[in-house]
Amino acid sequence: MLPLPAPFPHLRRGEVARTLISWNIDTALRKGSGMRLDDQSASQNVEDRRGGGAGIGRGTVGIGTLVIALVAGYVLGVDPAVILGLASSGAPSSAAARPPQKPPAGDDMATFVAKVLGSTETTWHAVFSEAGRRYQEPKLVLFTAATPTACGTGRSAMGPFYCPADQKVYIDLAFYRDLRERFKAPGEFAQAYVIAHEVGHHVQNLLGISDKVHAAQQRSGNRAAANALSVRLELQADCFAGVWGHRADSRSRILEPGDVEQALNAASAIGDDRLQRQTQGQIVPESFTHGTSEQRVRWFKRGMESGDIRQCDTFSAATL
Ligand SMILES: [Zn+2]
Repeated sequence: MLPLPAPFPHLRRGEVARTLISWNIDTALRKGSGMRLDDQSASQNVEDRRGGGAGIGRGTVGIGTLVIALVAGYVLGVDPAVILGLASSGAPSSAAARPPQKPPAGDDMATFVAKVLGSTETTWHAVFSEAGRRYQEPKLVLFTAATPTACGTGRSAMGPFYCPADQKVYIDLAFYRDLRERFKAPGEFAQAYVIAHEVGHHVQNLLGISDKVHAAQQRSGNRAAANALSVRLELQADCFAGVWGHRADSRSRILEPGDVEQALNAASAIGDDRLQRQTQGQIVPESFTHGTSEQRVRWFKRGMESGDIRQCDTFSAATL
């Protein structure tokens, strides 16, 4: 395995752990730093849809569409609102009508997200190239309240999620406030982990694992069997997040026992991927479909300790 440049080369291993755990968004905002990701380049794949009018309900229908709807309504005798309703339900096209915006410079939270995403890109480019494959980077969309996605309307209440149809991770940064205040997980690691887990789903998508699982779930025609497969898919995304964690500090563990549990418990309390399950008609309690916290910690640690995706075969594991 090729040694990879650590994104935190100026920190010793213990320091990385302390920096990651003790970092706090409020402190960071006050001081303008607080975290030392200086050497990590920010990903160029962050799309900022916060408050830009690209959300659901406003700015999604262009003037051309409006004219067409009015003309078609007149000609066909159909209420233009009905046509507009149909037109604006094509969520991805309305999002594509507006060129993607980059986050403004000086936005600390967006910069943090972009650096963590950049760190996952470094990791997964390396893992894929070791296997003779090429990694396609996902986009990450920052939004507030609601936004169109190729998987339907994304809403904050869903928590962060990945949409395989457009290969984008969606995050409303209000989630981090919940993580900090409601779930008492202020650590930077918890925030970075959320991104790494969603990127894990992207990796599963690229590797064809998600498709196989969804096909198997449909074949099973059985809620319990489908849920059991969901658990394995989620635990694998946790393990992939661990692989990122390992490679982000390729020399050693960046976390101490207890820190991982705290971060994962917090993340699993809100959960993700509700959108995907909703589109499949499988709405089930998050705790059930993500596995127990103990299982999540175990699989995260397998990735974290090995840095090897072959250790993440949750589908062959006799016990989770
Ligand atoms: Zn997930």
